[in-house]
Amino acid sequence: MPSGKTIITCAVTGNLVRPDQHPGLPVTPEQIARAAIDAGKAGAAIAHIHVREPDSGKPSMRIELFHEVVERIRNSGSEILINLTTGEGGRFAPSQDDPRIAGPGTTLLHPLRRIEHVVALKPDLCSLDFNTMNSGPHVVINTPANVRKMAAAVTEAGVKPELEVFDSGDIHMAGDMIAEGLLTGRPFFQIVTGVKYGCAATPETIAYMKSILPAGAAWSAFGIGRHEFPVLAIAKCLGGHVRVGMEDNIYLRRGELVRDNAQLVERAVALLDILGEEPASPAEARAILEQRSLRGSASGACSCRSTGWNGKLPKDAGKSVTNLALPQPAHSRGSGSTARFMGCCSTICVSPMAGRWRWTV
Ligand SMILES: [Zn+2]
Repeated sequence: MPSGKTIITCAVTGNLVRPDQHPGLPVTPEQIARAAIDAGKAGAAIAHIHVREPDSGKPSMRIELFHEVVERIRNSGSEILINLTTGEGGRFAPSQDDPRIAGPGTTLLHPLRRIEHVVALKPDLCSLDFNTMNSGPHVVINTPANVRKMAAAVTEAGVKPELEVFDSGDIHMAGDMIAEGLLTGRPFFQIVTGVKYGCAATPETIAYMKSILPAGAAWSAFGIGRHEFPVLAIAKCLGGHVRVGMEDNIYLRRGELVRDNAQLVERAVALLDILGEEPASPAEARAILEQRSLRGSASGACSCRSTGWNGKLPKDAGKSVTNLALPQPAHSRGSGSTARFMGCCSTICVSPMAGRWRWTV
């Protein structure tokens, strides 16, 4: 059985639920910040945040709104980790007459515009969507090239991307970017389930998604709507972290609206308690997410099932080492002198540079 603390993320408002669906949906920066602070008091370690236009409640990308929310949370003394969305700006609705032309509902933005607020405000985390998929009558488009641009820019800003995966292929794309050295540190995956035509919110699907994650990755899963709490239990029992919040679900049970985000977190804490688990504090969540993937195994033997490599891992991972007997990689990435080798732990890149092998973790 899994052990250790469980990170609860609370996604407090999102961009799909409308204010007319729930009178308590956080809309203004003050309401969104208050929801995050209260979620933290109830046991959440991370607040996932979108902003909305205060007058209309419509989704917004305005940096001053993000700024006000972040400032209010930080000035409150709350330690909750702040995770800002980068999901806005990825939607395409083909026009009825010509599918090459963007119709009403299209929000496509340049990828660097989508992460401007993250670069400026430097939250602890930001979401990074790997999906290209149907979404209602529209499609969401995140091309590999654009995801790479966003990943490079947020990493450069010192912000940890939370890797949002909606289907198995998204995990393979993230794996490629980890192998390329574009994503560094311990990967943190968020498995999104219950979105129509995406990953089903079933134990079998979530277990499969987990089975193809890079070794050593931290992961969380959530379900949309009525799937919220069943998926919480499934994720926890499979060793993952969890997420709740009014972005995903506004009901406590059929026909009964939830009081607020904190009530969803309280229920998550109660369910974890029944399963014998405790929620991670923000400090504990930070430690979990910053764990090195190689912790405890850096000097051990490595048996790579995928490449047939049975080499020794160097004790001084992160430094240059010599005389590593690696087979010509079955999984080499890149080209020329910077080609990288993916070992059995897919978060390790070994680059043969200037005749020396360099480990990057
Ligand atoms: Zn979101």
